[in-house]
Amino acid sequence: MKNKVVKFLFSLFLVVTLLISQSHVASAAYGGNGTNSRWVTGGFNKAVGIQIRCIYGNQSYTDTAKNQWNGVSSKVKLVTTYSDNVIETYFDCYNSPSTGLYGYSERYYGSKKLADFDSDTSSRWDKAKCYQYKPSAKATATPSPDQRRRTCVHEVGHALSVAHVQNNAIGAVMKKGDQSVYTLYKFDKDSLKGKWGS
Ligand SMILES: [Zn+2]
Repeated sequence: MKNKVVKFLFSLFLVVTLLISQSHVASAAYGGNGTNSRWVTGGFNKAVGIQIRCIYGNQSYTDTAKNQWNGVSSKVKLVTTYSDNVIETYFDCYNSPSTGLYGYSERYYGSKKLADFDSDTSSRWDKAKCYQYKPSAKATATPSPDQRRRTCVHEVGHALSVAHVQNNAIGAVMKKGDQSVYTLYKFDKDSLKGKWGS
C-alpha cells in the first residue's frame, strides 16, 4: 500500500513537471512572437543601442547599412562598436557562406544557431552575423559598389528581423535577388517599424 502511494506521488510529480516545462516553452515562444520583447530579452541593450561591429572587411559597407536603418524607428539605434557587439559584419569576406551578389545572415541564441529568418518569426536571439563574399574570391560576376552596399543593407535588415517582401511588385531592399539601389523603400521602413515600433 505504501508503495502504491509513493508510485502515485512520483507519477504526479512527473506529470506536474512535464506540464510546467511545456507551459514554459509555450510562453517563451508566445512572448517573442512578433513583438519587441525578443529584442529586449535578447542581446539588445536599450540604454546603449544595438551594437554593430565590422569584424572583417570594409567599414564603409557596415556604416552604410547602419545609416540606412537608423532614423526609421525611434526604437532602433545602431551604434558602431569595436569590442562588444550584437550584430557582427563580415563583408568582403573570403570565407563567406554566400556567393555571387548575395549575402547571408545568421542569428544566434547563446551558441545555438536559429532557423531561417523567413520561416522563424518567434525565436529570441542575442547575436546576429551578416556576411558578404569578397568579389575576387568566388564566382564569376563582380558586383558594383552599389549592388554590394544594397546587399549589406539587406543583410543587416535580416539581423534586425526584417523578412523578405512577399509581393515582387513592391519595391524593397528586402526583396530576394539583386536590386541596384541601397536606399530603403517604404516596405523596408514599415517592416522595421512593424517589428520594433515607430
Ligand atoms: Zn534576404
